[in-house]
Amino acid sequence: MRNALHLIAGSLVEGGSGGFDSLNPSEPTQIVAKAPLGTDAEVALAVNAASEAFESWRKTPGPGKAERLYAWAEAIQARAAELAEAIATEVGKPIGEAKGEVGRCVAILRYYAGEPVRPSGDVIPGLANGILQYSLREPLGVVGLITPWNFPMAIPLWKAAPALAMGNTIVLKPSEHSALCAHLLAETAVAAGLKGEFNVVQGAGPAGSALVQHPDVKAISFTGSDATGAKISVACAQLNKKFQTEMGGKNVAIVLADADLAQAANLVAAGAMRFAGQKCTATSRVVVESSVSGKFIEELKKAIDGLPVGNPLEMATAVGPVINQASYDKLNAAVKQGETIHQVAAPNTGYFVSPTVLGGVGPEHDLAQNELFGPVLTYLEAGSLDEALTIANQTRFGLSASLCTRDIRAALTYIDRIQAGMVRVNADTTGVDPHAPFGGMKGSSSGTREQGAVAKDFYTQYKTVQINP
Ligand code: ADP
Repeated sequence: MRNALHLIAGSLVEGGSGGFDSLNPSEPTQIVAKAPLGTDAEVALAVNAASEAFESWRKTPGPGKAERLYAWAEAIQARAAELAEAIATEVGKPIGEAKGEVGRCVAILRYYAGEPVRPSGDVIPGLANGILQYSLREPLGVVGLITPWNFPMAIPLWKAAPALAMGNTIVLKPSEHSALCAHLLAETAVAAGLKGEFNVVQGAGPAGSALVQHPDVKAISFTGSDATGAKISVACAQLNKKFQTEMGGKNVAIVLADADLAQAANLVAAGAMRFAGQKCTATSRVVVESSVSGKFIEELKKAIDGLPVGNPLEMATAVGPVINQASYDKLNAAVKQGETIHQVAAPNTGYFVSPTVLGGVGPEHDLAQNELFGPVLTYLEAGSLDEALTIANQTRFGLSASLCTRDIRAALTYIDRIQAGMVRVNADTTGVDPHAPFGGMKGSSSGTREQGAVAKDFYTQYKTVQINP
């Protein structure tokens, strides 16, 4: 058991009204970390530290900012094994994927370390001769980041790295289910020489809400449930703060009759079941062309059976537990709503849920409409690509989608018609390159995209300058 602390002005500190425990979802009697429950007071201290750091950070020349981000990447790399183990223990992510997440953190920091010295802005012709007109990107100031537990290090960093690169300073409110991961991330920031530029307030919803409300916080970047995202959007709109929200999905994989069915089954099984289906981009519906349904189901069963369920600390494990009791209860109740096509046994300790494929429901059913965030896949059939696309688009979400086919014309039709931000062909719905834009359509996201070069759009505002010599 560790103590997970706040990070304020470069110091790891206690404080707040009471505390909370972060539990090991594989063995919930085990407390992974005890953390202080941040309140308005800690949020105010952290925002104050970030405000004080802002002027000098914003004026730090590009190479100086780059140096800090490279140093942060090195500090994470130096503790990679320990950080991956913490992710596996605290949120139940299989260790292979947890290591991948830590590697991704390093890649994100290295990618954005180059940004402060890359060209920025445009020279724009003036209406009159001899006028110099150009656009200039400026940082926003103190930015609030509110993050979930499922990528407990990568999500905070894919927000923090571009924010810092563009000259902002930060207060992060991580999920209460990943307090240790946030604490360790804070330790690596300190090791990299960051002080008030990056602050962390541990706590639950009220600390996030205090961050949104604080008058010196200029923008909020949020990832989490659509219910919380909606509240944050309303609050930010009322306060005229810039915001972006990344929320749920009901991500679809379409399998056409001409696809390599064994390959398609592996992609669908991996997308739906790995990390117990707890990625925002996890596959939660599969729509299969009816003529190959029987054959595909046989392949899918084999593929799911090939994904070991068990202890996230073991390298072979593909499916660990779900995050908490509420999620466990919700999933076990949902499984009863459909007809079981396939189910794999899971350990009956902790929050393990059996990987399950459910059928017997139509595209309008709850199981095909609402996010479950667990290893439960809803099976649907369609008579044609056209019908499959109609079903695929028939939800309020639009984060990620996949099509399995060998037909380039079918692929192009799908790319044109699918309502999703992340569009994959013969690839599963999960797994996104950290330097490519990430985000969804419809109810999945709001604001500008995250990651890649477009992340700059959120963390900067333009000045348009005209000089008449
Ligand atoms: P998840 O189901 O992934 O935990 P949540 O939306 O509940 O998603 O949580 C995501 C993040 O939002 C967490 O850091 C959580 O503490 C925070 N949060 C929850 N409620 C609020 C709120 N009303 N205002 C701001 N942040 C909140």
